[in-house]
Amino acid sequence: MSFAFEASAVTREVLRIISGIHIKEIVTSSLHPHNLNSIVKIMLDCPERPKGHKFSIDRIDRDSVNLSKDICLTSGGADSTIAWFKEGGPTGLYVDLGQPYTRKERGALVSIGIPHVYVDLSEYGFTSKMWKHIIPGRNLLFLTIAAELVSDFGTIHFAVTSGEGYYSLKGDKSREFIENFKEWYKFTTGKTVIVKTMHRKTKGQWLKYFMQQGCDIDIIRYKTVTCFEVDGKGNTQCGRCQACLRKFLSFMYNNIDISQDYAVPPMIGCQDFVTKYMTVLPTALEMKDFSHYSKERCIEDIAAIKKAQQLYSNI
Ligand SMILES: [Zn+2]
Repeated sequence: MSFAFEASAVTREVLRIISGIHIKEIVTSSLHPHNLNSIVKIMLDCPERPKGHKFSIDRIDRDSVNLSKDICLTSGGADSTIAWFKEGGPTGLYVDLGQPYTRKERGALVSIGIPHVYVDLSEYGFTSKMWKHIIPGRNLLFLTIAAELVSDFGTIHFAVTSGEGYYSLKGDKSREFIENFKEWYKFTTGKTVIVKTMHRKTKGQWLKYFMQQGCDIDIIRYKTVTCFEVDGKGNTQCGRCQACLRKFLSFMYNNIDISQDYAVPPMIGCQDFVTKYMTVLPTALEMKDFSHYSKERCIEDIAAIKKAQQLYSNI
């Protein structure tokens, strides 16, 4: 009898360690590396072990793994970068799941100067079954790893803005998901973690806030990366994906036209999304149905699209 086996994060970590025994001297892990190392030590202590074979499991980053009070999930995108500045520059966390855009995201973190713990889970094949641009389960993994890195009652900064489903009762950015995660983690480890989101403001409002704080808007404009595409021509922002459109709209809402920063201006490259937004957002407002888009997001995106349309009709 055979059945499909979906490996859990823990199973995948074990698989990575086992493959590391053959090809590496040291494998880093965030999942209680000290205990894992004891297991490995005992496990490999056998007469068949080749002479000179060395292997150990290390913490992912010696300096930053002293449990911090704060850790910020950083992706190199606009929202998490604003969160990082807002919180006074806590340690960042970047988990590499082997996404095609990993290199640009890490490049953004380096160019902005966000010190971060890097966790490499790229060998696990998480990207083999993506749901459009979504890697199912990623936020559970991110929050768990972050929780392992903060002290008891420490805070995880998780940049979910208004309009991304915080109040939608579903998905891995919802309040229900976050509350259930905290409860489960507490039951499992005895540790309390605080998860701080950004759901009180929309992307555009956060951008405004960032400017009002006297921060340099060019950091967000030129250095952050939210685009899902990789084109190999050096363009970091395609102008054709929803993430590009959303960044563009948040700037447009603040009367800044950044269309020239994209390979194709988003109002052209994302025409289908724009048409969709201009149908679903006014309907949501009319029906007062904010289960998918928050009221503020509907208002903001409609206003931003109208501003952009006006701008282009004047040219
Ligand atoms: Zn894009």
